[in-house]
Amino acid sequence: SRPHILVTGGAGYIGSHAVLALLDAGYPVIVLDNLITGFDWAVDPRATLIVGDIADSGMVAEVLHAHDIQAIMHFAGSILVAESVADPLKYYRNNTAASASLVETALKAGIRHLLFSSTAATYGQPPVSPIPETAPTVPINPYGRSKLMTEQMLADAARAHPLNHCALRYFNVAGADPHGRSGQSSAVATHLIKIAAEAAIGLRDQIAVFGSDYPTADGTCVRDYIHVSDLASAHLHALERLMAVPDENLVLNCGYGRGFSVLEVLDAVDRVTGRAIPRVMADRRPGDPPELVADNRAILSTLPWRPAHDDLEAIIADAIAWETRLAARRAGRAAA
Ligand code: UDP
Repeated sequence: SRPHILVTGGAGYIGSHAVLALLDAGYPVIVLDNLITGFDWAVDPRATLIVGDIADSGMVAEVLHAHDIQAIMHFAGSILVAESVADPLKYYRNNTAASASLVETALKAGIRHLLFSSTAATYGQPPVSPIPETAPTVPINPYGRSKLMTEQMLADAARAHPLNHCALRYFNVAGADPHGRSGQSSAVATHLIKIAAEAAIGLRDQIAVFGSDYPTADGTCVRDYIHVSDLASAHLHALERLMAVPDENLVLNCGYGRGFSVLEVLDAVDRVTGRAIPRVMADRRPGDPPELVADNRAILSTLPWRPAHDDLEAIIADAIAWETRLAARRAGRAAA
């Protein structure tokens, strides 16, 4: 039978999609999530959900033992850049310190494979585009630093102990499960495609464009938008690689290697919805680099992963379909 996989943060956006990818591939999945930002209903019923905190080492040790866990996909953490600036210690506690506790407990339990959710925010202001994994990592906010510190900690632990790991550096994750089983469900939207999906279903009247005087072709920021289901399948392939090649440790960018500007995204939203959502030009948002695009040659050469959803309109259509389901869920709950 297939090895049991623990997914921390499996009730969140990306984690819940990784759970689907694992289950669809036949792996038994145990989700550990404190449900502070995740949702129990986002966890596929084929998985076992345990509500708890990754920093609770006694509980984690019990879970690892009771479920005979062979590998961990570690998504649990805090992800808001602005909040990390206002409350940095929360980020060092939830991301760095909690990860240290998890890894220590995992090592004691004999776990040998760990996948970590990292971010392109570890690069800071990218010196080149597309950006390779070998570029300097100089994060410009506590969120990025808390994630980079965890990467470094994992690399050190993997050198000292029988553990191999893969840090996946996500670019701009967007869209939703094409079968409608999960999606981006957070109540406060900050990401462009989530905001556009809210506007598409009438929850917003307009979309603000944060800066139109950047040194890019149309003056707006360029990003590498990756469909969340492709990101989930990258995790599955990385996990299988770790289990097959015990001494390998990896850091891999997760992106498509191409970028779209904010205006190109909004044009695609208008094509998908068949109407023109009003745009308002606004000030730059502090800390936004003009262009952030993955050099994805490493993941393409290391893993058999190939993008299946590299289509901006499809990403947007899946995001809107999920937003529609979320609205129906909210209406159902309000009526109940
Ligand atoms: N953006 C925008 N309006 C919004 C939200 C985002 O113009 O309402 C821009 C943002 O400034 C950035 C790009 O869209 O240039 C992607 O932002 P997002 O927050 O989705 O991801 P980030 O790149 O910050 O991780």
